[in-house]
Amino acid sequence: MSEHTSADKPVPMVLIVGAGLGGLTLAMLLERINIPYHIFERATELKPLGISAMALAGNILPIFEQLGLYEDLMQISHPYPEMDLYNANLKKLGSMSLMGHKIATGYDYRLLSRPKLYELLLRQVPADKISLKKRILRTEEKDDRVHIYCADNTTYEGDVLVGADGAYSGVRQSLYKRLDEQGILPKKDLENFSIAYSTIVGVAEPKDLEKYSQLKEKHSFFSQALDQSNRNWYVINVPNNQICWGVGVQLTQEQAKGQHFRNSEWGPEANEAMMKEFQDLPCPWGGKMGDIFDATPKNLISKVYLEEKMFKTWHYGRTVLLGDACHKMLPGAGQGAINAMQDAIIIANGIYNMKDTSRGSITALFEDYYRQRYHHVEERFKNSALMSKIMHGQAWTERLLRHVVLNYLPYWMLKEQFAKDFEYRPQIAWLPLIKNRGTGNVLPQEGRRKKFAAEAATV
Ligand SMILES: Cc1cc2nc3c(=O)[nH]c(=O)nc-3n(C[C@H](O)[C@H](O)[C@H](O)COP(=O)(O)OP(=O)(O)OC[C@H]3O[C@@H](n4cnc5c(N)ncnc54)[C@H](O)[C@@H]3O)c2cc1C
Repeated sequence: MSEHTSADKPVPMVLIVGAGLGGLTLAMLLERINIPYHIFERATELKPLGISAMALAGNILPIFEQLGLYEDLMQISHPYPEMDLYNANLKKLGSMSLMGHKIATGYDYRLLSRPKLYELLLRQVPADKISLKKRILRTEEKDDRVHIYCADNTTYEGDVLVGADGAYSGVRQSLYKRLDEQGILPKKDLENFSIAYSTIVGVAEPKDLEKYSQLKEKHSFFSQALDQSNRNWYVINVPNNQICWGVGVQLTQEQAKGQHFRNSEWGPEANEAMMKEFQDLPCPWGGKMGDIFDATPKNLISKVYLEEKMFKTWHYGRTVLLGDACHKMLPGAGQGAINAMQDAIIIANGIYNMKDTSRGSITALFEDYYRQRYHHVEERFKNSALMSKIMHGQAWTERLLRHVVLNYLPYWMLKEQFAKDFEYRPQIAWLPLIKNRGTGNVLPQEGRRKKFAAEAATV
Protein backbone atom coordinates (compact mmCIF):
# COMPACT_ATOMS: atom_id res chain seq x y z
CA MET A 1 0.00 0.00 0.00
CA SER A 2 2.71 2.49 0.90
CA GLU A 3 4.39 4.56 -1.81
CA HIS A 4 6.76 6.60 0.27
CA THR A 5 8.47 6.25 3.61
CA SER A 6 8.88 9.57 5.32
CA ALA A 7 12.66 9.14 5.79
CA ASP A 8 13.63 10.07 9.36
CA LYS A 9 11.59 13.20 9.79
CA PRO A 10 8.98 13.36 12.55
CA VAL A 11 5.51 12.65 11.21
CA PRO A 12 2.27 13.88 12.77
CA MET A 13 -0.45 11.66 14.18
CA VAL A 14 -3.57 12.75 12.30
CA LEU A 15 -7.04 12.37 13.82
CA ILE A 16 -9.72 12.41 11.12
CA VAL A 17 -13.30 12.91 12.28
CA GLY A 18 -15.84 11.61 9.76
CA ALA A 19 -15.66 8.73 7.27
CA GLY A 20 -17.45 10.57 4.47
CA LEU A 21 -15.98 11.01 0.99
CA GLY A 22 -13.61 13.77 2.19
CA GLY A 23 -12.35 11.93 5.29
CA LEU A 24 -11.85 8.68 3.37
CA THR A 25 -9.93 10.46 0.61
CA LEU A 26 -7.55 11.99 3.14
CA ALA A 27 -7.11 8.62 4.88
CA MET A 28 -6.40 6.91 1.54
CA LEU A 29 -3.69 9.49 0.76
CA LEU A 30 -2.04 9.33 4.20
CA GLU A 31 -2.07 5.54 3.97
CA ARG A 32 0.02 5.75 0.80
CA ILE A 33 2.74 7.86 2.49
CA ASN A 34 2.83 6.03 5.81
CA ILE A 35 1.56 8.94 7.88
CA PRO A 36 -0.16 7.61 11.02
CA TYR A 37 -3.86 8.47 11.17
CA HIS A 38 -7.13 7.20 12.55
CA ILE A 39 -10.74 7.87 11.51
CA PHE A 40 -13.46 8.44 14.12
CA GLU A 41 -16.96 7.99 12.70
CA ARG A 42 -20.16 8.41 14.66
CA ALA A 43 -22.24 6.01 12.53
CA THR A 44 -22.72 2.41 13.59
CA GLU A 45 -21.89 1.10 10.13
CA LEU A 46 -19.92 2.42 7.18
CA LYS A 47 -22.19 3.74 4.46
CA PRO A 48 -22.45 6.97 2.52
CA LEU A 49 -24.86 9.64 3.68
CA GLY A 50 -27.54 10.19 1.06
CA ILE A 51 -27.90 7.56 -1.63
CA SER A 52 -27.82 9.39 -4.92
CA ALA A 53 -25.96 9.83 -8.16
CA MET A 54 -22.51 11.39 -8.11
CA ALA A 55 -20.91 13.21 -11.00
CA LEU A 56 -17.12 13.27 -11.13
CA ALA A 57 -15.43 15.76 -13.41
CA GLY A 58 -12.01 16.43 -14.93
CA ASN A 59 -10.96 18.42 -11.87
CA ILE A 60 -10.77 15.24 -9.75
CA LEU A 61 -10.37 12.37 -12.26
CA PRO A 62 -6.56 12.80 -12.68
CA ILE A 63 -5.97 11.71 -9.08
CA PHE A 64 -7.70 8.40 -9.74
CA GLU A 65 -5.17 7.89 -12.54
CA GLN A 66 -2.29 8.84 -10.23
CA LEU A 67 -3.51 6.34 -7.64
CA GLY A 68 -4.03 3.51 -10.15
CA LEU A 69 -7.79 3.50 -9.49
CA TYR A 70 -8.94 4.93 -12.80
CA GLU A 71 -9.89 1.61 -14.39
CA ASP A 72 -11.88 0.65 -11.29
CA LEU A 73 -13.71 3.96 -11.53
CA MET A 74 -14.46 3.43 -15.23
CA GLN A 75 -16.05 0.06 -14.39
CA ILE A 76 -18.52 1.54 -11.94
CA SER A 77 -19.39 4.75 -13.80
CA HIS A 78 -20.86 5.84 -17.13
CA PRO A 79 -19.84 8.82 -19.26
CA TYR A 80 -22.49 11.51 -19.26
CA PRO A 81 -22.60 13.79 -22.31
CA GLU A 82 -25.66 15.99 -21.65
CA MET A 83 -28.58 16.88 -19.39
CA ASP A 84 -32.13 17.04 -20.69
CA LEU A 85 -34.78 19.19 -19.07
CA TYR A 86 -38.56 18.82 -19.51
CA ASN A 87 -41.71 20.54 -18.33
CA ALA A 88 -44.41 18.70 -16.37
CA ASN A 89 -45.96 17.36 -19.62
CA LEU A 90 -42.55 16.07 -20.70
CA LYS A 91 -42.19 18.68 -23.41
CA LYS A 92 -38.47 19.23 -23.79
CA LEU A 93 -37.27 22.58 -22.45
CA GLY A 94 -33.79 22.00 -23.82
CA SER A 95 -30.50 20.20 -23.25
CA MET A 96 -27.17 21.23 -21.87
CA SER A 97 -24.21 19.63 -23.61
CA LEU A 98 -21.21 18.70 -21.46
CA MET A 99 -18.93 18.12 -24.44
CA GLY A 100 -17.13 21.41 -23.71
CA HIS A 101 -15.93 19.83 -20.48
CA LYS A 102 -14.46 16.88 -22.37
CA ILE A 103 -12.71 19.13 -24.86
CA ALA A 104 -11.28 21.35 -22.11
CA THR A 105 -10.14 18.60 -19.72
CA GLY A 106 -9.77 15.50 -21.90
CA TYR A 107 -12.14 13.59 -19.58
CA ASP A 108 -15.78 12.64 -19.85
CA TYR A 109 -17.94 13.63 -16.93
CA ARG A 110 -18.61 10.32 -15.14
CA LEU A 111 -21.80 9.39 -13.34
CA LEU A 112 -22.02 6.69 -10.71
CA SER A 113 -24.00 5.85 -7.62
CA ARG A 114 -22.59 7.30 -4.41
CA PRO A 115 -22.37 3.89 -2.66
CA LYS A 116 -20.08 2.59 -5.44
CA LEU A 117 -17.67 5.52 -5.08
CA TYR A 118 -17.79 5.14 -1.32
CA GLU A 119 -16.94 1.43 -1.55
CA LEU A 120 -14.00 2.15 -3.86
CA LEU A 121 -12.49 4.65 -1.40
CA LEU A 122 -13.23 2.46 1.59
CA ARG A 123 -11.29 -0.42 0.04
CA GLN A 124 -8.14 1.76 0.17
CA VAL A 125 -8.30 2.21 3.96
CA PRO A 126 -7.51 -0.68 6.36
CA ALA A 127 -10.56 -1.49 8.51
CA ASP A 128 -8.57 -1.27 11.76
CA LYS A 129 -7.92 2.42 11.09
CA ILE A 130 -11.59 3.31 11.37
CA SER A 131 -13.50 3.35 14.67
CA LEU A 132 -17.30 3.41 14.52
CA LYS A 133 -19.76 4.75 17.11
CA LYS A 134 -17.37 7.60 17.90
CA ARG A 135 -19.45 10.75 17.99
CA ILE A 136 -17.13 13.66 18.70
CA LEU A 137 -18.69 16.10 21.14
CA ARG A 138 -15.81 18.39 22.03
CA THR A 139 -12.24 19.14 21.05
CA GLU A 140 -9.48 20.90 22.94
CA GLU A 141 -5.85 21.86 22.48
CA LYS A 142 -3.56 21.44 25.47
CA ASP A 143 0.01 20.38 26.24
CA ASP A 144 0.91 20.94 22.58
CA ARG A 145 -1.52 18.22 21.43
CA VAL A 146 -5.08 18.22 20.19
CA HIS A 147 -7.66 16.13 22.08
CA ILE A 148 -11.07 14.82 21.04
CA TYR A 149 -13.84 13.77 23.44
CA CYS A 150 -16.41 11.24 22.25
CA ALA A 151 -19.99 10.62 23.39
CA ASP A 152 -18.95 7.18 24.72
CA ASN A 153 -16.58 8.91 27.19
CA THR A 154 -13.42 7.94 25.34
CA THR A 155 -10.76 10.52 24.47
CA TYR A 156 -7.93 10.51 21.93
CA GLU A 157 -5.05 12.83 21.18
CA GLY A 158 -2.89 13.65 18.19
CA ASP A 159 -0.85 16.35 16.45
CA VAL A 160 -3.41 17.30 13.83
CA LEU A 161 -7.21 17.17 13.97
CA VAL A 162 -9.15 17.15 10.70
CA GLY A 163 -12.88 17.88 10.92
CA ALA A 164 -14.26 15.99 7.93
CA ASP A 165 -17.57 15.52 9.69
CA GLY A 166 -19.93 17.19 7.26
CA ALA A 167 -22.26 20.16 7.31
CA TYR A 168 -23.13 19.89 11.01
CA SER A 169 -19.53 19.24 12.02
CA GLY A 170 -18.99 18.66 15.74
CA VAL A 171 -15.33 19.63 15.30
CA ARG A 172 -16.35 22.96 13.77
CA GLN A 173 -18.93 23.68 16.45
CA SER A 174 -16.46 22.98 19.26
CA LEU A 175 -13.71 25.03 17.62
CA TYR A 176 -16.05 27.94 16.88
CA LYS A 177 -17.32 27.96 20.48
CA ARG A 178 -13.77 28.44 21.73
CA LEU A 179 -12.97 31.10 19.12
CA ASP A 180 -16.23 32.95 19.83
CA GLU A 181 -15.45 32.97 23.55
CA GLN A 182 -12.10 34.53 22.69
CA GLY A 183 -13.91 37.09 20.49
CA ILE A 184 -12.02 36.07 17.33
CA LEU A 185 -14.75 34.33 15.33
CA PRO A 186 -16.32 36.30 12.45
CA LYS A 187 -20.04 36.73 13.25
CA LYS A 188 -20.95 35.45 9.77
CA ASP A 189 -19.62 32.04 10.80
CA LEU A 190 -22.38 31.77 13.41
CA GLU A 191 -25.22 32.37 10.93
CA ASN A 192 -27.49 29.55 9.79
CA PHE A 193 -27.20 27.68 6.51
CA SER A 194 -29.54 28.91 3.85
CA ILE A 195 -31.82 26.05 2.89
CA ALA A 196 -33.08 26.10 -0.68
CA TYR A 197 -34.66 22.72 -1.44
CA SER A 198 -36.13 19.76 0.35
CA THR A 199 -35.46 16.55 -1.58
CA ILE A 200 -35.60 12.79 -1.47
CA VAL A 201 -33.03 10.77 -3.35
CA GLY A 202 -32.80 7.04 -4.04
CA VAL A 203 -31.39 4.26 -6.20
CA ALA A 204 -33.91 2.03 -7.99
CA GLU A 205 -33.11 -1.51 -9.08
CA PRO A 206 -35.87 -2.31 -11.61
CA LYS A 207 -36.56 -5.99 -12.25
CA ASP A 208 -38.06 -5.39 -15.69
CA LEU A 209 -35.01 -4.16 -17.62
CA GLU A 210 -37.01 -3.82 -20.85
CA LYS A 211 -39.12 -1.05 -19.34
CA TYR A 212 -36.36 1.57 -19.58
CA SER A 213 -34.33 1.44 -22.81
CA GLN A 214 -31.76 3.79 -21.20
CA LEU A 215 -30.50 0.87 -19.09
CA LYS A 216 -29.15 -0.81 -22.21
CA GLU A 217 -26.86 2.10 -23.05
CA LYS A 218 -23.23 2.54 -22.01
CA HIS A 219 -23.70 6.18 -21.14
CA SER A 220 -25.88 7.99 -18.61
CA PHE A 221 -29.05 9.86 -19.46
CA PHE A 222 -29.81 12.65 -17.01
CA SER A 223 -33.45 13.58 -17.50
CA GLN A 224 -35.14 16.11 -15.26
CA ALA A 225 -38.65 17.54 -15.23
CA LEU A 226 -40.02 20.63 -13.50
CA ASP A 227 -43.54 21.87 -12.86
CA GLN A 228 -45.18 25.15 -11.87
CA SER A 229 -45.53 24.08 -8.23
CA ASN A 230 -41.82 24.45 -7.46
CA ARG A 231 -41.27 20.71 -7.88
CA ASN A 232 -38.52 18.93 -9.80
CA TRP A 233 -37.83 15.26 -10.38
CA TYR A 234 -35.08 13.42 -12.22
CA VAL A 235 -33.81 9.99 -13.24
CA ILE A 236 -30.25 8.95 -14.17
CA ASN A 237 -29.07 5.50 -15.29
CA VAL A 238 -25.77 4.23 -13.87
CA PRO A 239 -23.98 0.85 -14.38
CA ASN A 240 -25.49 -2.39 -13.01
CA ASN A 241 -28.98 -1.46 -14.21
CA GLN A 242 -29.50 1.02 -11.43
CA ILE A 243 -31.50 4.24 -11.70
CA CYS A 244 -30.54 7.09 -9.40
CA TRP A 245 -33.46 9.43 -8.87
CA GLY A 246 -34.41 12.50 -6.92
CA VAL A 247 -37.55 14.51 -6.23
CA GLY A 248 -37.37 17.99 -4.77
CA VAL A 249 -39.32 21.08 -3.80
CA GLN A 250 -37.88 24.57 -3.90
CA LEU A 251 -38.61 26.20 -0.54
CA THR A 252 -39.82 29.75 -0.08
CA GLN A 253 -37.83 31.86 2.39
CA GLU A 254 -40.54 31.31 5.02
CA GLN A 255 -40.58 27.53 4.50
CA ALA A 256 -36.78 27.45 4.63
CA LYS A 257 -36.76 29.27 7.98
CA GLY A 258 -39.10 26.63 9.39
CA GLN A 259 -36.73 23.85 8.35
CA HIS A 260 -33.96 25.22 10.57
CA PHE A 261 -35.84 23.81 13.54
CA ARG A 262 -35.67 20.32 12.11
CA ASN A 263 -32.76 17.97 11.89
CA SER A 264 -31.43 18.83 8.47
CA GLU A 265 -28.92 16.00 8.21
CA TRP A 266 -29.43 13.12 5.82
CA GLY A 267 -31.43 10.20 7.08
CA PRO A 268 -34.11 7.70 6.09
CA GLU A 269 -36.91 9.49 7.98
CA ALA A 270 -40.31 10.79 6.93
CA ASN A 271 -39.96 10.09 3.22
CA GLU A 272 -43.33 8.66 2.39
CA ALA A 273 -45.47 11.78 2.56
CA MET A 274 -43.18 13.61 0.17
CA MET A 275 -42.92 10.66 -2.25
CA LYS A 276 -46.73 10.49 -2.39
CA GLU A 277 -46.72 14.01 -3.81
CA PHE A 278 -44.60 12.82 -6.74
CA GLN A 279 -45.79 9.29 -7.40
CA ASP A 280 -48.33 10.17 -10.11
CA LEU A 281 -46.02 12.53 -11.97
CA PRO A 282 -44.72 11.24 -15.33
CA CYS A 283 -41.26 9.70 -15.34
CA PRO A 284 -39.24 11.27 -18.20
CA TRP A 285 -38.48 7.73 -19.47
CA GLY A 286 -42.10 6.50 -19.45
CA GLY A 287 -44.54 5.36 -16.77
CA LYS A 288 -44.82 7.23 -13.50
CA MET A 289 -42.35 8.23 -10.83
CA GLY A 290 -44.27 5.86 -8.52
CA ASP A 291 -42.95 2.92 -10.65
CA ILE A 292 -39.40 4.08 -9.94
CA PHE A 293 -40.15 4.40 -6.21
CA ASP A 294 -41.64 0.87 -6.19
CA ALA A 295 -38.41 -0.48 -7.68
CA THR A 296 -36.31 1.11 -4.93
CA PRO A 297 -35.31 -0.83 -1.80
CA LYS A 298 -36.28 1.21 1.30
CA ASN A 299 -32.70 1.31 2.55
CA LEU A 300 -31.68 3.06 -0.67
CA ILE A 301 -33.93 6.08 -0.09
CA SER A 302 -32.97 9.13 1.94
CA LYS A 303 -34.20 12.61 2.64
CA VAL A 304 -31.93 15.58 2.28
CA TYR A 305 -32.23 19.34 2.62
CA LEU A 306 -30.15 21.14 0.04
CA GLU A 307 -28.51 24.03 1.77
CA GLU A 308 -25.47 26.22 1.38
CA LYS A 309 -22.97 28.14 3.41
CA MET A 310 -19.38 29.14 2.94
CA PHE A 311 -17.58 29.43 6.29
CA LYS A 312 -14.74 31.94 6.69
CA THR A 313 -12.81 30.11 9.40
CA TRP A 314 -11.32 26.83 8.23
CA HIS A 315 -8.53 26.26 10.76
CA TYR A 316 -7.04 27.28 14.06
CA GLY A 317 -4.07 25.89 15.97
CA ARG A 318 -3.88 22.16 15.27
CA THR A 319 -7.43 21.86 13.92
CA VAL A 320 -8.49 22.10 10.29
CA LEU A 321 -11.82 21.59 8.51
CA LEU A 322 -12.46 20.07 5.10
CA GLY A 323 -15.40 19.43 2.79
CA ASP A 324 -18.96 20.22 3.83
CA ALA A 325 -17.68 21.08 7.33
CA CYS A 326 -16.34 24.38 5.92
CA HIS A 327 -18.15 24.82 2.58
CA LYS A 328 -21.54 23.32 1.96
CA MET A 329 -22.61 23.80 -1.66
CA LEU A 330 -25.89 23.25 -3.47
CA PRO A 331 -25.50 20.19 -5.74
CA GLY A 332 -26.48 21.85 -9.04
CA ALA A 333 -22.93 21.77 -10.40
CA GLY A 334 -22.02 18.41 -8.75
CA GLN A 335 -18.98 19.89 -7.01
CA GLY A 336 -19.43 19.34 -3.24
CA ALA A 337 -17.70 15.97 -2.95
CA ILE A 338 -15.12 16.89 -5.57
CA ASN A 339 -14.15 19.90 -3.48
CA ALA A 340 -14.04 17.83 -0.29
CA MET A 341 -11.63 15.49 -2.11
CA GLN A 342 -9.56 18.41 -3.42
CA ASP A 343 -9.28 19.74 0.14
CA ALA A 344 -7.96 16.33 1.20
CA ILE A 345 -5.36 16.39 -1.60
CA ILE A 346 -4.02 19.81 -0.57
CA ILE A 347 -3.88 18.83 3.12
CA ALA A 348 -2.10 15.55 2.30
CA ASN A 349 0.35 17.39 0.00
CA GLY A 350 1.07 19.79 2.88
CA ILE A 351 1.63 16.98 5.37
CA TYR A 352 3.93 15.25 2.89
CA ASN A 353 6.05 18.41 2.67
CA MET A 354 5.96 19.27 6.39
CA LYS A 355 9.30 19.69 8.15
CA ASP A 356 8.22 18.71 11.67
CA THR A 357 5.15 18.45 13.90
CA SER A 358 5.58 21.76 15.75
CA ARG A 359 2.52 24.00 16.09
CA GLY A 360 4.27 26.56 13.87
CA SER A 361 4.71 24.06 11.01
CA ILE A 362 1.13 22.90 11.35
CA THR A 363 -0.20 26.47 11.33
CA ALA A 364 1.89 27.21 8.25
CA LEU A 365 0.46 24.11 6.55
CA PHE A 366 -3.12 25.14 7.30
CA GLU A 367 -2.53 28.74 6.21
CA ASP A 368 -1.17 27.47 2.94
CA TYR A 369 -4.15 25.10 2.55
CA TYR A 370 -6.56 28.02 3.09
CA ARG A 371 -4.63 30.25 0.69
CA GLN A 372 -4.60 27.57 -2.01
CA ARG A 373 -8.21 26.54 -1.60
CA TYR A 374 -10.47 29.36 -0.42
CA HIS A 375 -10.91 31.36 -3.61
CA HIS A 376 -11.24 28.24 -5.80
CA VAL A 377 -13.91 26.86 -3.48
CA GLU A 378 -15.67 30.22 -3.44
CA GLU A 379 -15.87 30.17 -7.24
CA ARG A 380 -17.31 26.64 -7.23
CA PHE A 381 -19.71 27.67 -4.47
CA LYS A 382 -21.10 30.54 -6.58
CA ASN A 383 -21.19 28.37 -9.67
CA SER A 384 -23.10 25.66 -7.75
CA ALA A 385 -25.71 28.22 -6.66
CA LEU A 386 -26.08 29.44 -10.26
CA MET A 387 -26.32 25.91 -11.70
CA SER A 388 -28.91 24.99 -9.06
CA LYS A 389 -31.02 27.94 -10.21
CA ILE A 390 -30.69 26.83 -13.83
CA MET A 391 -31.49 23.23 -12.98
CA HIS A 392 -34.29 23.61 -10.43
CA GLY A 393 -35.15 27.28 -9.87
CA GLN A 394 -38.81 28.28 -10.29
CA ALA A 395 -38.83 32.03 -9.68
CA TRP A 396 -39.60 33.82 -12.98
CA THR A 397 -36.03 35.15 -13.17
CA GLU A 398 -34.72 31.60 -12.75
CA ARG A 399 -37.06 30.25 -15.43
CA LEU A 400 -35.92 33.01 -17.78
CA LEU A 401 -32.27 32.23 -17.01
CA ARG A 402 -32.88 28.54 -17.74
CA HIS A 403 -34.62 29.37 -21.01
CA VAL A 404 -31.71 31.56 -22.16
CA VAL A 405 -29.01 29.05 -21.11
CA LEU A 406 -30.75 26.08 -22.71
CA ASN A 407 -31.73 27.79 -25.92
CA TYR A 408 -29.56 30.79 -26.67
CA LEU A 409 -26.17 30.33 -25.01
CA PRO A 410 -23.70 29.90 -27.89
CA TYR A 411 -21.69 26.70 -27.76
CA TRP A 412 -18.36 28.57 -27.90
CA MET A 413 -19.32 30.49 -24.76
CA LEU A 414 -20.23 27.30 -22.91
CA LYS A 415 -16.95 25.74 -24.03
CA GLU A 416 -14.96 28.72 -22.75
CA GLN A 417 -16.81 28.60 -19.46
CA PHE A 418 -15.95 24.91 -19.04
CA ALA A 419 -12.29 25.67 -19.79
CA LYS A 420 -12.26 28.38 -17.10
CA ASP A 421 -14.24 26.34 -14.55
CA PHE A 422 -11.93 23.34 -14.84
CA GLU A 423 -8.47 24.87 -15.11
CA TYR A 424 -7.89 24.19 -11.41
CA ARG A 425 -7.12 20.45 -11.19
CA PRO A 426 -4.88 19.81 -8.19
CA GLN A 427 -2.95 16.55 -8.14
CA ILE A 428 -1.08 14.49 -5.56
CA ALA A 429 2.35 16.05 -4.94
CA TRP A 430 4.42 12.90 -4.49
CA LEU A 431 3.21 11.00 -7.56
CA PRO A 432 4.06 11.69 -11.21
CA LEU A 433 1.64 14.26 -12.58
CA ILE A 434 -0.90 13.25 -15.18
CA LYS A 435 -0.40 15.31 -18.30
CA ASN A 436 -3.16 17.56 -19.58
CA ARG A 437 -5.09 15.78 -22.33
CA GLY A 438 -7.55 18.61 -22.96
CA THR A 439 -7.32 21.89 -24.81
CA GLY A 440 -8.00 23.99 -21.70
CA ASN A 441 -5.33 25.63 -19.60
CA VAL A 442 -4.25 23.95 -16.32
CA LEU A 443 -3.19 26.12 -13.37
CA PRO A 444 0.32 25.28 -12.16
CA GLN A 445 0.48 22.60 -9.49
CA GLU A 446 1.56 23.88 -6.07
CA GLY A 447 3.28 21.93 -3.32
CA ARG A 448 5.66 19.91 -5.50
CA ARG A 449 9.12 19.29 -4.18
CA LYS A 450 12.05 20.73 -6.15
CA LYS A 451 12.75 17.50 -8.01
CA PHE A 452 9.26 17.68 -9.54
CA ALA A 453 9.37 21.38 -10.37
CA ALA A 454 10.53 20.95 -13.96
CA GLU A 455 7.90 18.30 -14.62
CA ALA A 456 5.19 20.49 -13.04
CA ALA A 457 6.15 23.37 -15.31
CA THR A 458 5.60 21.24 -18.41
CA VAL A 459 2.23 19.82 -17.41
C1 LIG B 1 -28.55 15.14 -3.76
C2 LIG B 1 -27.09 15.45 -3.74
C3 LIG B 1 -26.33 15.20 -4.86
C4 LIG B 1 -24.96 15.50 -4.87
N1 LIG B 1 -24.26 15.25 -6.00
C5 LIG B 1 -22.94 15.53 -6.03
C6 LIG B 1 -22.19 15.27 -7.20
O1 LIG B 1 -22.70 14.83 -8.23
N2 LIG B 1 -20.83 15.53 -7.19
C7 LIG B 1 -20.24 16.06 -6.07
O2 LIG B 1 -19.02 16.30 -6.10
N3 LIG B 1 -20.95 16.32 -4.93
C8 LIG B 1 -22.26 16.07 -4.89
N4 LIG B 1 -22.98 16.33 -3.76
C9 LIG B 1 -22.30 16.91 -2.59
C10 LIG B 1 -21.57 15.86 -1.76
O3 LIG B 1 -22.41 14.80 -1.48
C11 LIG B 1 -21.02 16.43 -0.43
O4 LIG B 1 -20.40 17.66 -0.69
C12 LIG B 1 -20.00 15.44 0.15
O5 LIG B 1 -20.64 14.24 0.51
C13 LIG B 1 -19.30 16.04 1.38
O6 LIG B 1 -18.39 15.11 1.89
P1 LIG B 1 -17.80 15.27 3.36
O7 LIG B 1 -16.86 14.14 3.52
O8 LIG B 1 -17.31 16.65 3.56
O9 LIG B 1 -19.04 15.13 4.35
P2 LIG B 1 -20.09 13.96 4.55
O10 LIG B 1 -20.24 13.13 3.33
O11 LIG B 1 -21.30 14.62 5.09
O12 LIG B 1 -19.44 13.02 5.68
C14 LIG B 1 -19.35 13.41 7.02
C15 LIG B 1 -19.11 12.18 7.91
O13 LIG B 1 -18.88 12.62 9.25
C16 LIG B 1 -19.68 11.86 10.15
N5 LIG B 1 -19.94 12.71 11.33
C17 LIG B 1 -20.74 13.79 11.41
N6 LIG B 1 -20.69 14.33 12.63
C18 LIG B 1 -19.83 13.59 13.35
C19 LIG B 1 -19.34 13.65 14.70
N7 LIG B 1 -19.74 14.61 15.55
N8 LIG B 1 -18.45 12.71 15.12
C20 LIG B 1 -18.02 11.73 14.26
N9 LIG B 1 -18.44 11.63 12.98
C21 LIG B 1 -19.34 12.54 12.53
C22 LIG B 1 -20.93 11.53 9.36
O14 LIG B 1 -21.60 10.39 9.89
C23 LIG B 1 -20.32 11.27 7.96
O15 LIG B 1 -19.91 9.93 7.80
C24 LIG B 1 -24.34 16.05 -3.73
C25 LIG B 1 -25.10 16.29 -2.58
C26 LIG B 1 -26.46 16.01 -2.59
C27 LIG B 1 -27.26 16.31 -1.38
